[in-house]
Amino acid sequence: MSIAPPNVELKPGTIQFLESGPKKLLLGGEWLDSADGAVFESINPANGKGLVQVAAASSADVDRAVQAARGAFENASWNRMSGADRGNLLWKIADLIERYTDELSELETLDNGKPLRVSSRVDVPQAAKHFRYYAGWASKIEGSTIPVSFPNQLVYTVREPMGVVGLIIPWNFPLLMAAWKLAPALACGNTVILKPAEQTPLTAIRLGEILIEAGVPAGVVNILTGYGVPTGAAITAHPGIDKVAFTGSTEVGRKIMSAAAGSNLKRVSLELGGKSPNVVFADADMSRAIRGATWAVFSNTGQECVAGTRLFVERPVYDQVLEGLAADSQKIRIGNGFSGAHLGPVVSEEQLERILGYIASGKSGGAEVVTGGERLGGELADGYFLPPTVFAHHDDSLQVVQEEIFGPVVAVSAFDDWDELVARANATQYGLAAGVWTRDISRAHRFAAAVKAGTVWVNQYGLIDAAAPFGGYKESGFGREMGKDAIELYTQVKTVWVNLG
Ligand code: NAP
Ligand code: MG
Repeated sequence: MSIAPPNVELKPGTIQFLESGPKKLLLGGEWLDSADGAVFESINPANGKGLVQVAAASSADVDRAVQAARGAFENASWNRMSGADRGNLLWKIADLIERYTDELSELETLDNGKPLRVSSRVDVPQAAKHFRYYAGWASKIEGSTIPVSFPNQLVYTVREPMGVVGLIIPWNFPLLMAAWKLAPALACGNTVILKPAEQTPLTAIRLGEILIEAGVPAGVVNILTGYGVPTGAAITAHPGIDKVAFTGSTEVGRKIMSAAAGSNLKRVSLELGGKSPNVVFADADMSRAIRGATWAVFSNTGQECVAGTRLFVERPVYDQVLEGLAADSQKIRIGNGFSGAHLGPVVSEEQLERILGYIASGKSGGAEVVTGGERLGGELADGYFLPPTVFAHHDDSLQVVQEEIFGPVVAVSAFDDWDELVARANATQYGLAAGVWTRDISRAHRFAAAVKAGTVWVNQYGLIDAAAPFGGYKESGFGREMGKDAIELYTQVKTVWVNLG
C-alpha cells in the first residue's frame, strides 16, 4: 500500500486498522458514526497524504457521550468496583499496550511523523508505564482522620472521584498524552470523554479498542474524535461534565477556563505551553552541555512543551557553545519516520507555516540564523520538513524569544552575571520547565530555587516519569499531573463529622 515508504512493510495489524474503513466514535462501549455523519481525514505529515477517514463529533455526540459516561459512573459495575480491581484493569491495559507495541508505534509514526524508533522506545512503552504506575495507586487512595477542637467527634475524609471528566489532548505525544490523563482518571474511579487532537486521532482510537479488549465497562471511556470547535468546545461548555483536564496551548487554555466558568464551574486543570530557559555556565562539561542543549530543543522536532527554546550561555563559552550547537544540529538526520532518521516532519502544513512565520519574524527583527531556517525540499518536498534552526540574538523582546513556536527553533544569547541571568530566564509569560548545566552544585540548586518553573533539570534535560509531578508555573498552567499529585487532580475530598456523644 502507498501509506508508508515503498521499502517499509507495515505490520498486518496496522494495515488492518487502516483498511477497515472509516474510524468511528466510541460511545457507551460501541463504535458509532457521528450523529450528523461528518468525517475528516487524518494526514501523514511525512508525505501530505490522507491515511484514513475519522468521524468528526458534533455537540450532539458530546451529549451522547455525557449520557453514556454519566450512566457508567452511576452503574454498579464501575462504581462498586474495588480499587484493587480497577488496578487489575489498568495493569491489563498496560499489558495489552505492550502486546500491541508494533502497531501502535507504526500508527503513531504514520499519523504524527515521529521516528518509529521514538514511537516504539518512548511513546508506547511510556504509555504502558503510566497505566502500570496508576494501577498501583488505584488501591491506595485514602482519606484521613482529623483531630478537631470539639469534643466527642469523629471526623474523617474520603477521596471520591470527580464524576464525568473531559480529557482534551494535543498532537505531539498522542498516545502518551492520552495515558497521562486516562490512567489516573480511571484509577480514581471517574468516567471519561477523551478528545484527541484532530491531527493525530489514530492511536487514541486503537487505544479505545484495547480498553474494550481489557474489559473496561461500556461507557467508562468514550472517545470523541473531531475538531477543537465544535467538539472540544462542546466538552468544555457541557453542564454534565464535572471536570476538564486539558493539555495544549495557553491560548486555548484561556478559552477552556472561561467556558468552564460560564457553564457549571467545572473543575479545570491545565498543562499549557512553555518557553523554557536552558542555561550553560562556563564551568559545565562542555560536550555534554552542547549535546544536551541540542536535544533539549530539537527532540520531537521541537514539538515539546518543555523544549529548551531559550538558550543562555555564559559569555566566555558563548562562541564555543554556539558553534557546537550548530555543528550538532547539522548532523541530525531529518526524514520519514520509517527511514531511520533522527527527526521526522512537523505535524501539519499549518504548523509548518506558523514556524516559518516565526523564522521570518526573527530574521526581520535582527536575529542571525546560524543554521537551518528553510523548508526542506527534494525527496522531502511533499512532507512538512524543517531542519533544526539556530538563532543568535541580543534582544529578549523578539517574538522568537518570547513566544512558543512549537517547532525546531532555538534562540541563543550570551549572559554576563547571575542577576541578569535570573531576571532574563524568568522574563516570559511561561514557567513550565528549565535546565542548567554547571559543575558547581550549589549554583545549580540556587538556579533551581530562583527559576519560576514547574520542573528543573540539572546537567540533563527532558526526563519525565509517571512518578514525578509535572506541570506549570505562571501561564504554563496549573495542577500537577503524574505522581501522587494526579490523584488529587482527579478526586475531591469529602469530610464526614460523626457525633460520638
Ligand atoms: P491546542 O491548539 O491548544 O489544542 C489542544 C487540544 O485542544 C486539541 O485537542 C484541540 O483540538 C483542542 N481545542 C482547540 N480549540 C479548542 C477549544 N476552543 N475548546 C476546547 N478544545 C479545543 O494545542 P496543540 O496545537 O494541539 O498543541 C500544542 C500546544 O500544546 C503547545 O502550546 C504545547 O506547549 C502544549 N503542550 C503542553 C504540554 C504540557 O504538558 N504542558 C504538553 C504537550 C503540549 P484540535 O486538535 O481539533 O484543534
Ligand atoms: Mg495525522
